[in-house]
Amino acid sequence: MDSLIPAMEQALMDFSSGRVAQPVRTSLSIPEHAAFLGVMPAVYGDVMGAKLVTVYPNNTATGLPSHQALIVLFRSGTGEPLAVMDGRLITEMRTAAVTAVATKLLAKPDARVLAILGSGVQARSHFEALRLLRRFEEVRVWSRTPENARRFAAEIGARPVSVEEAVRGADVVVTVTGAPEPILHGEWLEPGTLVNAVGAVGPKRRELDDEAMRRGTVVVDSREAAFIESGDVLLSQAPIYAELGELLAGAKPKPPDGISVFKSLGIAVEDLAAARMVCSAAEGRRL
Ligand code: NDP
Repeated sequence: MDSLIPAMEQALMDFSSGRVAQPVRTSLSIPEHAAFLGVMPAVYGDVMGAKLVTVYPNNTATGLPSHQALIVLFRSGTGEPLAVMDGRLITEMRTAAVTAVATKLLAKPDARVLAILGSGVQARSHFEALRLLRRFEEVRVWSRTPENARRFAAEIGARPVSVEEAVRGADVVVTVTGAPEPILHGEWLEPGTLVNAVGAVGPKRRELDDEAMRRGTVVVDSREAAFIESGDVLLSQAPIYAELGELLAGAKPKPPDGISVFKSLGIAVEDLAAARMVCSAAEGRRL
């Protein structure tokens, strides 16, 4: 995570300054399983390739992960295949690392209270990543299934509470659920709060209500993706202030004090940058 976070910073800056060729993800739906296959290609400097990701939310009942993936990496200069690797762990880690980048930049330096809404794979990786950035004295957890909330809270020394209790007074809120309808209400938020909205990928899905989106200054990983894939943005019609990469590069000033919302969609360049790190480490040399 320590080296992944700076790699994500660089990838987001490169993306927002036009140095990455990357279409918005193609999603093929598999309605009989309430699932989809995502195809995520990109060309990024000396590597190119794609992540293929399957999202089967009902898998958790069977013990299989809801998100599974493969990443295929090629050398951009010659087209040589470099690696085929698992993308499940990379998806788990790079998403939390990107949220960590947003949190480093947008959360109050003295943030003390962290609220995590959700208790799955991303909830765990986000806890691991965000604790590296701020000294959280209190961590609150809410999840739809109380037993899952209790188990996760016990694991990380947090408090399982109601969703409203989790959010009110929190400095950093992370939403990492599969909820199709808002779970977080803007009236609970106070100025100075950062909301990292990570779940609800899809034009008709949302975790935040209109008030949360409109009270917040909205930052996204990709504007183009947000206008196609983010129900939180599309349904609330909240304006997008900037891409995270633009803020990191100083191309746009940091948002004014108040509530900030980082809406993460997850983009291919994040996967390729992470896969490139894995490949270099495995080869024991530069690619
Ligand atoms: P998991 O399957 O591991 O966990 C799913 C979580 O969502 C559980 O905590 C579950 O709660 C909760 N949940 C499911 N359905 C609902 C619902 N209807 N209402 C409220 N909560 C619900 O998934 P992940 O942790 O891997 O992913 C979490 C979210 O993040 C997903 O939406 C996923 O698509 C998104 N994601 C986003 C990425 C990005 O880059 N932005 C990358 C990867 C994932 P419980 O178990 O308590 O019932």
